Amino acid sequence: MLKIYNTLTKQKEEFIPLNPPLVKMYMCGPTVYDYFHIGNARSFIMSDIVRRYLEYKGYVVTFVMNLTDVDDKIIKKANQEGKSAQEVAEFYIKEFFNDIEKLKIKPATFYPRATEFMSDMIEMIKKLEEKGIAYNVDGNVFYDVSKFNGYGKLSGKNTDELEIGARVEVNEEKKHPLDFALWKKAKEGEPYWESPWGKGRPGWHIECSAMSCKLLGESFDIHAGGHDLIFPHHENEIAQSEAANEKPFAKYWLHFGFLNINEEKMSKSLGNFFTAREVLKKYSAEAVRLFFAQAHYRGPLNFSDELLQAAEKGVEKLQNLTDKIEDELRKNSDNGKQIEFDFKSWYEKFEQAMDDDFNSAQAVAVMFDFTREVNRVIAENENLNKDFYNNVKSFLKKTAEDVLGVISFQKKESLPSLEDDLIELLINIRTEAKKEKNYALSDKIRDELKNLGVILQDTKDGTSFKKVRR
Ligand code: AMP
Ligand code: ZN
Repeated sequence: MLKIYNTLTKQKEEFIPLNPPLVKMYMCGPTVYDYFHIGNARSFIMSDIVRRYLEYKGYVVTFVMNLTDVDDKIIKKANQEGKSAQEVAEFYIKEFFNDIEKLKIKPATFYPRATEFMSDMIEMIKKLEEKGIAYNVDGNVFYDVSKFNGYGKLSGKNTDELEIGARVEVNEEKKHPLDFALWKKAKEGEPYWESPWGKGRPGWHIECSAMSCKLLGESFDIHAGGHDLIFPHHENEIAQSEAANEKPFAKYWLHFGFLNINEEKMSKSLGNFFTAREVLKKYSAEAVRLFFAQAHYRGPLNFSDELLQAAEKGVEKLQNLTDKIEDELRKNSDNGKQIEFDFKSWYEKFEQAMDDDFNSAQAVAVMFDFTREVNRVIAENENLNKDFYNNVKSFLKKTAEDVLGVISFQKKESLPSLEDDLIELLINIRTEAKKEKNYALSDKIRDELKNLGVILQDTKDGTSFKKVRR
């Protein structure tokens, strides 16, 4: 039984979708004014693992990730670069798709762009205005927080507490400090859309309310995002959607902990970030994913090179077994020895971990235990039956590859052979150099290959190599 910690109820709850086997999930995506950083990547990757595990459980998931393509930050960047906001957004959307593909994030079912749902946002604001919940002050439309009883239920605070702690915009036009903009009147030089309140553009929160409603319905199963979005973004989404539709909005709220650097949240505004693509120059996508999967999604996690290096080693262990299994399956061992191996209990261990609020850290520990156990069995038995290898392959494929995305069965086959032959040639030259005690040359070959994403491994049987993504 899958249990999910629900930020709304502040407890772990049994996951009961509204309309099984369908699961509708919405994840707040990026504001596209820059390359995304490895902190954003944590939220994207963990939401991907959640989605993949739901699919593992047999659910049919509609996964929506929005792209915020109209925003102050995009406009600012456009002005700095002498481009239009649309050009800036287009550029970074393309780069976003490049990066998530490199991180092996499964494409969402929909990637709605705010600018393509303008009429839905306007309709929702009109509805709120008709109900007396939104008010227009000279072309700026605000949400009147005092009209929504449940305000604060997600962040678990009452409006007085929220007011004290909030980083809410001070604006003299607002009736109440917690009121927030639904529609912003156009300023000189800004992109704008026509609306019943004049030229302007939507506030950030209404984008997600309108797009989730349009694509997933008024009520849906899971809404996710980084921890920073609980207040005010998600609190405001609930206020807007539930007041407009008079139905409960998302049933389960999932929030991903921050990736910190030196104990401080990694963020664009603090400037203490590494872009995902910078990190991918040093580490494989699998290592980045393992690094994130090894920590529970809700807690904070500190970025460090040591941990990423350790994750790279961990991936190597899992991938070595994967490659070994592929090699064994290529050999014909139909008549090999049959052995007892309790695969069922390994699936159970993996599911127990993931069923407990997506405890991927525990699931990773299961993967390593499994790897150790299988390696032991292989070392102790010569010529095992193909069934055994097929079962190991199925397990690794369904768990480590399809859910966690930390290994790849296709890796070996996809390597071009001339490239491999050239690497082998360099390995041979390095072995010669070592024999002649020319360590300067042998180290140079090893280091230069590493820079190219080829990792050499010296064992008693010689040197093998492994390609990691650059
Ligand atoms: P943004 O582009 O800043 O709107 O963020 C996109 C997604 O990344 C949102 O779901 C954020 O909550 C999440 N996010 C931003 N910074 C971090 C961080 N340091 N760690 C984890 N998630 C983050
Ligand atoms: Zn959102």
